[in-house]
Amino acid sequence: MKPIQDFFPLLKKPAKVVITTHQKPDPDAMGSSLALYHFLKMLGHTVTVISPTNWASFLNWMPGSEDVLDYEAQREKCEQVLSTTEWLFCLDFNVLLRTKHMAPGLQNLKCIKVLIDHHQEPDEASFDYGVSNTAKSSTSEMVYDFIVDSGHKEAVNIAIAECLYAGIIGDTGSFRFPAASASVHALVSHLKSIGLQHTVVHDNIYDNFLENRLRFIGHVLLNRMQIFYEFNTALISISKADLLRYEIKTGDTEGLVNYPLTIQGIKMAAIVIDRDEERKWSFRSKGNIDVNTFARKYFEGGGHFNAAGGRSSDSLEKTVQKFKKAIEENASQLQ
Ligand code: 5GP
Ligand code: MN
Repeated sequence: MKPIQDFFPLLKKPAKVVITTHQKPDPDAMGSSLALYHFLKMLGHTVTVISPTNWASFLNWMPGSEDVLDYEAQREKCEQVLSTTEWLFCLDFNVLLRTKHMAPGLQNLKCIKVLIDHHQEPDEASFDYGVSNTAKSSTSEMVYDFIVDSGHKEAVNIAIAECLYAGIIGDTGSFRFPAASASVHALVSHLKSIGLQHTVVHDNIYDNFLENRLRFIGHVLLNRMQIFYEFNTALISISKADLLRYEIKTGDTEGLVNYPLTIQGIKMAAIVIDRDEERKWSFRSKGNIDVNTFARKYFEGGGHFNAAGGRSSDSLEKTVQKFKKAIEENASQLQ
């Protein structure tokens, strides 16, 4: 993978471009993709954003989201666009497998592939150009760097600012995680100076749910959370019946894993959700507890040091048992 700076000269000649991101895109995945979409269109390129799956409805206010294709729902159309693309941008993921059913096709694609990502252990061999920096708060911050470093700071408009800001608040927990560096705040200062209304973006993402979601959170915290004080760990497990009863949709469970970390002494929180075809895990930690390694070792996953995800084909009961065994095995690290 050549450095991203080597790609900048190519920006001058109009090209057909596809931007993709990880399945079930979150605010950073969708925000960084759409910010890059607006920027590349401005430079005269023909751009399509393809999401591997559907996404939470609280992202539908984002400028350009109405043009995003869903690979699972519009497979033929997506394949057609991919077959003629000259560049493929992969944003906010480290391995092609994170694009689910798109992965085999992307692997075989013969176009220029560019990675922009902040996850650990990227599969650099799969990309021609790219930047991977785990110190970055978000892929949105990296797309801002891409725009500025390629000499187009003046191209940042309100649409781009809204998308970038959404991604940054998503991945920094609204500026509270350690990655919210001085340069992140300087970036936001620039976005504000061109007229970003940050409160509107925040409300669109965090105050935009239906009543059922709040009732669901009440139920989950009361009945589905276990605390293991001896391991400073909390676990939430959610069954298919819970999801059905509260009519839970994509995105409604986002952020739930953070609640147990508000309990004094809890350093690791995990949530497992019984989705259709797999049990999906999310892990969050504080301080020097490495959930990236934990997710990789036990749950076929990965991510960041303090935030990672994984999966299991086992039943909900079985995978929960495995988790309990895993925290026992890691008792000393969890102190
Ligand atoms: P979340 O728990 O919000 O789904 O994900 C937390 C972080 O871990 C995100 O940066 C996400 O991209 C990453 N992540 C989530 N699930 C997986 C997974 O199954 N594999 C890998 N490698 N990363 C994941
Ligand atoms: Mn991200």
